[in-house]
Formats: sequence, structure tokens, C-alpha cells
Amino acid sequence: MSSESCRCLFCHAVDTSPVEITPGSWAMRCAACSAQGPLSADVEAASEAWVSTVHAEELLRTVIDESPDIILMKDWDGKFLLGNRALARLYGTTPQELVGVDDGAFNPNEEQVAFYLENVRGVMRGGETEIVMEESTNVETGETHFYQSIKKPLTGPDGEPRILVIAHDLTDLQRANRLVQDRERSYSYAMAAAGEGIWDWDIASNVVTHNTKWLEMFGITSEELQHPIEVFTEILHPDDRDDVRRVLQDALSGSGTYSHEHRMVHRDGTMLHVFDRGQVVERDAEGNPTRMAGAVTDITERVLHDHRLRVITEALIDANVSLERKVEERTNELARANFELQNLAWRDALTGLPNRLAGMNHLESEFARLNRNETATSSILMMDVDLFKKINDTYGHGVGDDVLTQIASTITEALRAGDFVARFGGEEFMALLPDTDLEGAVIVAEKIRSAVESNPVEAVGTVTLSIGATVASSADAEMDTAVRRADTALYEAKRSGRNMVVTRQSDLG
Ligand code: GH3
Ligand code: MG
Ligand code: MG
Repeated sequence: MSSESCRCLFCHAVDTSPVEITPGSWAMRCAACSAQGPLSADVEAASEAWVSTVHAEELLRTVIDESPDIILMKDWDGKFLLGNRALARLYGTTPQELVGVDDGAFNPNEEQVAFYLENVRGVMRGGETEIVMEESTNVETGETHFYQSIKKPLTGPDGEPRILVIAHDLTDLQRANRLVQDRERSYSYAMAAAGEGIWDWDIASNVVTHNTKWLEMFGITSEELQHPIEVFTEILHPDDRDDVRRVLQDALSGSGTYSHEHRMVHRDGTMLHVFDRGQVVERDAEGNPTRMAGAVTDITERVLHDHRLRVITEALIDANVSLERKVEERTNELARANFELQNLAWRDALTGLPNRLAGMNHLESEFARLNRNETATSSILMMDVDLFKKINDTYGHGVGDDVLTQIASTITEALRAGDFVARFGGEEFMALLPDTDLEGAVIVAEKIRSAVESNPVEAVGTVTLSIGATVASSADAEMDTAVRRADTALYEAKRSGRNMVVTRQSDLG
């Protein structure tokens, strides 16, 4: 039996030797830690059993050392009887160095060391295996690790209490859990803080999760934070349900993007206009959507505002139309009034013929036309009622007015279309015959004269008219020259006995 093979199973000390436990039964016992091997009938058998146990224990030792979990055994004083490599790594030492010392040899934190001692003693006292969560700080790195520890009270060969501790390092798992929790917390903060109503639809399980804003928006209690998609369809305005379903279905089977404006009904019955949009965020291996998330914005204010704006715009358009109509009516009225005013300004009130002003104006434009066309000639007739003063004096002014009115009609009837006549003075008329030479003018003048003579006026009898005629052309220096010539001819007619037509040629032609 080599000294190496006689190493203690627990403390690795080599000082093991056969001991007679009871008369005729032998065992190997470690002088250092009192570990004891199996009982045998003689010293030789005890040694062999010890050696095979040592081999089995070496295998076990390897397993223990290679375990990623911390495995240790302590006695009542907290001294290590066994510590594997995982523990040695944590304490910055070797498994061999651990044996026979307590945590205080590696951990300067006295409070923690005292706690460990009290803790393992508690388990040894209780005699029951305990599974606890605890933490330990790596001496070298200062890093804190979290463990799930199984603490099993044992009894040593002499009945002394011991404890086996197997600690599984949960630090990474804990960290991952914390990360997930942190993310979930930030996600829920973001959901809560968002000014928009947010929804997250797990299509497979048909559960929709919302933020509180979404719930507030539709008056839904926080117990309904998660609910089946049907709750959403319920609060959709009945008239918009089919549209929304169709658009959502199109998004799921097509582009994955959904966007729609529709109405929803708050639990208190109020109608809301919303802008809802979402996107497929997860799909299964076949590409079928499994999750869709989105946000909804309350656009009631904007829609109502738009509606009000539309109503106002329509009212404005109506007002504008009626204003335009009124302006048009007013313009027409003004045009009529203007026309009447012009009539007043340009017409003679008694006979209804153009007055002297209109006559002069007409003569001027005719003279301008003659000047544009040098070969053209027009004729002017100046007509004056004979001895009219006597009629007034004999029958009164009213009858005189009747005479003037009747003569005005007679002259108008005798003229041709295109001819012009104006009441030029009290009982004086002027006719302008465009494109008419003196011969033509005499014919017209004679026609007028004879018509007046042959149409006696009631209560007066025959009334006559003297007429002076002349031709106007661009050869005249001004229109007045021709008018004066006609006047002279009229004067001659009066002087020659009245009721006649007298002509006067232009001196130039
Ligand atoms: P003569 O044959 O030379 O033209 O003689 P006369 O009497 O016609 O001429 P006179 O110029 O002496 O008289 C014209 C009169 O016409 C004078 C005036 O009172 C009258 N008269 C002018 N305008 C009107 C009118 O609008 N109505 C009436 N009733 N008389 C008028
Ligand atoms: Mg007269
Ligand atoms: Mg006169």
C-alpha cells in the first residue's frame, strides 16, 4: 500500500493507518481529519477496501472538482473539510489550501464570515436539508455572485456534525432575468408615458395588450388591460366595423402595414374619431403574422374642427353667392338708374325726343365720321313751327305743348331708319340724315313739311313748319358751320313766307 493511495478521502492527508475499531474489525482512519474507511475483518482487507474506496473517491473527487457548482463540506466550526475548484476559484486559492480553514482565511468581510458560520450551524442544528438563495463576493474581482444552495446536514464518523453545501451559480440567469425585467419595466413605462393609445396584439393567442392611455381613451377599466380582439371590434362604431376589418385583414395578408381613420365609441357613449395604424412585428416560420402592434390617436378635435370649417366655408360660399347676386341686382338697378339719368340728361321731357345736348353730341360724332370718310355727305334739317307764339297766346301753353308733341311725332314718322331728330329749342327741331345729299334732304324735308300741314292739331287746326336744309361734309371747318348754314336757310324760309323748305349749299361745294 503506497502512502499516496492512503491519502485521506476528505482532507488528502497521507497520515492514514489501520485502527482496530472493535475487537477483530479494522478500518483505516485519517489522523488529520478523523475520516474513517470501511470496516473489515483484518488489517489487510481494511487496507484493500480503503484503497478501492480511495479510487472510487478519486473519481468522485474529479467529478466534484470539475463541477461548475460550488461543492463544499464544513465542520461545526465552519472549517472546510472539502472544497472543490469552483469554490477555490471564487476564493482565489486551491482546493488543498481550503481544507482546515474557515471562510475568514479568504473573505475579509468579518460580518459575512460570521453570518456563514451561523447559517451552517443553523442547518446542522436543524438537521434538515435546506435550499436557500444567497450571495457571495469574489475576493479578487469584488464581483457579487448569486447562488441557489442546497445545504445538507451530515454526521462525521464520530457522530460530529458536518454540512455539505452544493451552490449553483445563478448570477448569469439572475442578470438575464433582471435585464428582461428592466426591459419589461421600460417597455411598460414607455407604454404608460406615450401620449398615444398603444396596442399590442398577440394574434396566436388573440390577446391584445394596451397602455393606460388607450384604456382612458375609450373609458375601459385597467382590469381589461389585456383582452381578446373582440373587445376592440365591440367599441368600433357599427358603421365602420366592416371597413376596419377589411383593412386589417388586407394588412395581415399583404404588406403588414395597417392605417385607417374611423369612429369608435367610448364606454360612456361618446363618439370619437381616431387615426389608428399598426404593423406586423412578428411572423412564424411560414411567414404568417403572429403579432401586430400599433398606436391610435384621438383626432376628434381635428375632425370636428374640419367639419366646422367646412360648414363655415359653405356658409361663406353661400353668403358670397347671395352677395354676388345682390351686387348684380344692385348693379342692374344702378345701370337702370344710370340709364334713366342719362335719359333725363339727353332726352326732352315733353316730346320724348333727344334734347339739344344729345343733338349737338350726335352732330359732333357724325362730323367725326364724315372726316374719316371724305366722300360721305349728310344732310341737316333745321325746322321751326310757324307763328307758334300766336298759338300759345291764343290757346294757352298747354295746347302749345300738345302742338309740339304732335309735330314731334309727325317728324319722327316721316324720317327713315338711321335718321336722327332732336328738339333743338322751344319750337325748333333738328334732323340729321346720314349719307344723304341735298336732293334727298329736300325730299325728306318736303315729306315732313306736308305731313305737318296735313295733320291739323285738335283745337288749333292746321299748323305749319318752315325748314332750312343743307349738306354737311368733311369740307366744313366744323359741324357748327353746317348748322349755321341750315339756320340761315330756315331764316330765309321764314322770310319768304313760312311753310316751305329752303336749301343752302355749302360755299365750298
Ligand atoms: P315765327 O313764325 O317767326 O317762328 O314766329 P313764332 O311766333 O313761332 O316765333 P317766336 O320766336 O316769336 O315765338 C316762339 C314762342 O315759342 C315763344 C315761346 O314762348 C314759345 N315757346 C317756346 N318753348 C315753348 C314750349 O315748350 N311750350 C310752349 N307752349 N311754348 C313755347
Ligand atoms: Mg317759330
Ligand atoms: Mg323759333
